[in-house]
Amino acid sequence: MTVAKETIRCPFCREPIASGATRCKHCHADLSEHKKKRSFVARYNTFRIGFLTGVLFCLILILLIYFQFYGGN
Ligand SMILES: [Zn+2]
Repeated sequence: MTVAKETIRCPFCREPIASGATRCKHCHADLSEHKKKRSFVARYNTFRIGFLTGVLFCLILILLIYFQFYGGN
């Protein structure tokens, strides 16, 4: 009995490898690059949200410091 594993061909050495593999077991080529391109927009959106949150947090912090120094007088 053989396990029906979904296999794809390595784009570098054309050897059959597991479809979810991130590294070819035959030529050790990094296959994660193809996945990165597919989820680039999702990664960019996550980065942008994190960046905007950071900027917003810094602005609030600057305002708080500003009012701490100049609000009292
Ligand atoms: Zn390969």
